[in-house]
Amino acid sequence: MAVIHIPTQVVHGGSKRAGTKCGRDTKYKSEHWKDTNRKITCKNCLR
Ligand SMILES: [Zn+2]
Repeated sequence: MAVIHIPTQVVHGGSKRAGTKCGRDTKYKSEHWKDTNRKITCKNCLR
C-alpha cells in the first residue's frame, strides 16, 4: 500500500489510516495525503 503527499508528489509506503512507513503523520494536514497505488518514491520508505 502507498500514500501520496500531494504538495510534494512524493509517494510513501503506508496508508492514510496508518501513517507512512518513514514515520510521517498522515493525520496532520490530512488533506495533503491520499491513498494511491502508485510506485513508492520516498527513499526512506524504500529502505
Ligand atoms: Zn516515506
